[in-house]
Formats: sequence, C-alpha cells, structure tokens
Amino acid sequence: MADKRDYYEVLGVAKNASDDELKKAYRKQAKKYHPDLNPGDKEAEAKFKEVNEAYEVLGDKEKRARYDQFGFAGVDPSYGAGAGGAGGFNGGFGGFGGGFGGVDLGDIFGDIFGGGFGGGFGGSRANPNAPRKGADVRVSLVLSFMEAVHGCTKTITINKQDTCPECGGSGAAKGTSPETCPDCHGTGYVNRNIRMGGMVMQQRQPCSRCGGKGKIVSTPCGHCHGTGKVGAKKTLEVKIPAGINDDQSIALRGQGDAGVNGGPAGDVIVIVTVRPDPMFERDGYDVWVNVPITFSQAVLGASVVVPTVDGKVEYTVPEGTQSGTTFRLRGKGIQYLGGRGRGDQYVKVNVEIPKKLNKAQREALKAFEETLKDENYEQRKGFFKNLKDLFDKNK
Ligand SMILES: [Zn+2]
Ligand SMILES: [Zn+2]
Repeated sequence: MADKRDYYEVLGVAKNASDDELKKAYRKQAKKYHPDLNPGDKEAEAKFKEVNEAYEVLGDKEKRARYDQFGFAGVDPSYGAGAGGAGGFNGGFGGFGGGFGGVDLGDIFGDIFGGGFGGGFGGSRANPNAPRKGADVRVSLVLSFMEAVHGCTKTITINKQDTCPECGGSGAAKGTSPETCPDCHGTGYVNRNIRMGGMVMQQRQPCSRCGGKGKIVSTPCGHCHGTGKVGAKKTLEVKIPAGINDDQSIALRGQGDAGVNGGPAGDVIVIVTVRPDPMFERDGYDVWVNVPITFSQAVLGASVVVPTVDGKVEYTVPEGTQSGTTFRLRGKGIQYLGGRGRGDQYVKVNVEIPKKLNKAQREALKAFEETLKDENYEQRKGFFKNLKDLFDKNK
C-alpha cells in the first residue's frame, strides 16, 4: 500500500481541479490504458485499474472530501484498518474543524473512533435498518466510429452483488431469521462515556456486538456466509443510440448492485469510448474527410468519389480548385443524439503532387509549363508584385 500513487497524480490533475477537469483527465487516461486498446499489455491494465480507482474516489464528491482530508485511509477500508484508538483519533481529529461542521460532537467522535477508518464514514450515522440504494456498477465499452454514428446493440457482462437467493438478503440460514441485537436494540449504536482532557463526553459508536447492523444472525446462511449478498455475473444488452460520442455514458437503471433493506438496486453506467477512424474525423455532429485529388482534377475540375458515413457519394470539384479547399455536404454528418436532424460533412481536398516521373512525363510537363502565362497563376502574380514592391521600397 505504501507505493500507492496519489490519486491526483494518477489522473494528472491539480488538487483543486474542477469536476470537469477531473472527468476530462479521467477519460483521457482511461482511454490511453483501456485493455481493449492495449490487448495483452499488463502494464496498461494495471494503469487502467489505477486510473479507475482514482476516479472512483475523486469523481465522487463525498469520497473526494474524505480523501483530501484523510488520504487513502479515508476511502479504503483496508487502509489503516487496526488504526483504532489513539491512532485513529489523531488521524481523524485534524478533520474536526473542517469537514464536519454542523454535526454534533457525539457524531464526530462516533465516526472517528467507532467506525475507525474502515467504512465507518458515511453510512454509520444512518439508521442501519433503513433502505439503501445499491451501488452503481461502472463498465466501459469501446465502440467503432461507425457503431457510434449509427447506433448498435452490444452485449456486456458485469460483476455485481445480488441479494442472496437462499436467505433473501437477511444472511440467516433457512428457517431462521435475524434477531434484534440486545445491546443496541436494533439501532446499531451504543453510547459510551469517554474522558478527554478532563471532560467527559458521551460518544456514540457503532455497536460492536452486531457490527452496527442492529441485528444478529446466530446461524448464518450457508450460501452467502451471512452477508446476504452473492457475487453474480450478469450479461446485459445495451442499446447504443445513434450519434453517441466519445466520453458519453448510458445508464441502465436498476441493473447494478442489489439494494439493502429493500432499497432500490443501483445502476449500471456504461461509459463509451469511441475508437478513432482512419477515414473520418468527428467534430460534434460534423464529420471531416480528407480527399486526395490529382493535379489535373484540380485544374480541370472532376467528379470525385467522397466517402460519407452513409456510403459513397459523387462530388463535383470545380475547375481551378486549390489544394486545401474545403467543401460542405449539408446534412451528411452525424444524426443528433436523441433528436432530429444531422450535422454536415466537410470535405477537404488536397492536391497530391505526383512523384517519380519518367523522362517522357517530365518533358511533357515542362512543355506544358512553358505554355502558361502570368494570368494562369493568380497567387503568383500577386506574390511577385508584393515582392517587387517590398524590395523597391527598401532600396
Ligand atoms: Zn447491536
Ligand atoms: Zn444467504
């Protein structure tokens, strides 16, 4: 754990980065190291995990605040476990003035002492029997350029936590049911007096007998070992709407981890990464394409084949087209996400200068060049006039 890198460092952002900056940095890094884009690369895979872990914390306001205050110990249950008692107190006390304003002392100490850093924050103040929403499950999905443009249906497999089918989530073996904890009477908390610098304060801390659950399972369910949850692999179909872009996500409501105490299930968040295309470049809903044309096509004008996201179209390049000219094909871009209408396609033509001419070709070209006059070259005419003016002035 000691060699864990700082989450801000992992994402390459400043400590005061905005949510937006964080998100952008995360996207960038996640894409760079995505396993689908780096098949078989163990190092990239490790980085990908690191980046995801960092964003899971920094991308969540509450977790980020805890991380800022307590470091890894604030967000990772395994970190600093056992740092109870004085250690935990010292670590946590620094946060007293900052993050916990408006919360009564008992709650603050309850959190810092009792919960330790191991997941004690957050849920510990709440009624342990209240319904809670299950966690969201995040997955990334890589799409080809065309899949994103036209939409598609994809199958994803996720790992999530389901309610144990044997005990229905109670954690108690079949035929038994959890009993209300006699120590805390089901509240999950006990009050204890603590002495601090001559003062005696009452401290509320999670009940150690039931672990803050408010209930005791004397015969745990054999299937889930008393946790009430089982890991499950689930295959889901995701409908990707036409026009979706890189970095956008789709939520599959209620498909995430099972809720607790009858709360709703979390969501599955599918984060889309779009692979670049060798032909098309996307700018919002517009598409850019570079089309090479020949010297004589540019000079004489020609009908050229232009690829669009819907297939090939013919486009007439006018006589005397300069290299680098951009034409617009209105409405040939990408369909608006969830709306009517489409972007445009921009076609940039580049004149490709022929190479490796043979002798006859060279002669023919020279002969042709000799026939040309000043008025055939608008730009050169202007250029030489400016050049002449410049040096005449400086004389
Ligand atoms: Zn209890
Ligand atoms: Zn069970």
